[in-house]
Amino acid sequence: MRVNIIFACTECKRHNYSTRKNKKNTTGRLELKKYCPWDKKHTLHRETR
Ligand SMILES: [Zn+2]
Repeated sequence: MRVNIIFACTECKRHNYSTRKNKKNTTGRLELKKYCPWDKKHTLHRETR
């Protein structure tokens, strides 16, 4: 039930983080505030495929 997902920065569109999620307890698209080394600040990262 685990899926590999990639998080992309919504500001520079780069793919910075990959992780796994459990499909059971997460629904819809995930959005996380993470540090983007390209923007040198925390930005919103969105799940991509
Ligand atoms: Zn960025």
